[in-house]
Amino acid sequence: MRPSAIAANPGRGVWYHRPMARRMYKPRPAKTTGRRAPEPVPEDLRHLVAFVNARELESPAALSDWLSRRDLVPRGTELSEDDLERAREARAGLRSLIAADAEDVEPGLLNRAASNAVVRVRFEMDGSASFEPASADLAGALGRLFATVVLARAEGLWHRLKICEAEACGQAFYDASLNRRGRWCSRACGNRYAARGYRSRRKEAGRPPPPSA
Ligand SMILES: [Zn+2]
Repeated sequence: MRPSAIAANPGRGVWYHRPMARRMYKPRPAKTTGRRAPEPVPEDLRHLVAFVNARELESPAALSDWLSRRDLVPRGTELSEDDLERAREARAGLRSLIAADAEDVEPGLLNRAASNAVVRVRFEMDGSASFEPASADLAGALGRLFATVVLARAEGLWHRLKICEAEACGQAFYDASLNRRGRWCSRACGNRYAARGYRSRRKEAGRPPPPSA
């Protein structure tokens, strides 16, 4: 560095002479929103949740249609009124299982629904294995759904299944949140719940003080 250059630019310091190329430019870290995407819901558990929430099981034909859309029975499978009754028992039993705390599960309903459920294991060329209905009827469909329960418990995913806490909802849902503390099936339900809490807090605050004795 030539002394004359510094002298000619008093007050600007030696950095003035540093070539631009030698300055260190650190790439900025990519902007993050602070929220990570929720984890994907395993397909079998999605079917299980949908089954617990299914309101359209009004007739044997509707049940058959519902199950075939999820590959649980072949399309056009004929089901009976007894099948419908059993499917509704399975639905109620699964709902109670999701809602129940570990110590007060009522297994009677589920065991009745599962009494003739059948499932088989299917291996693929890559060595993976999965459960599939062992018969093309309700027994096969329920076998697959109940196998999903067993697998979810074995994989530590069962506690992610919950019943929405929002008033007048009661939908089963899979809590895909990272902290596993989800309480509502949807953002809409969460907002409704929060709004209700806000209203009740205001009401509490606006209550007139008790009359002094
Ligand atoms: Zn909800």
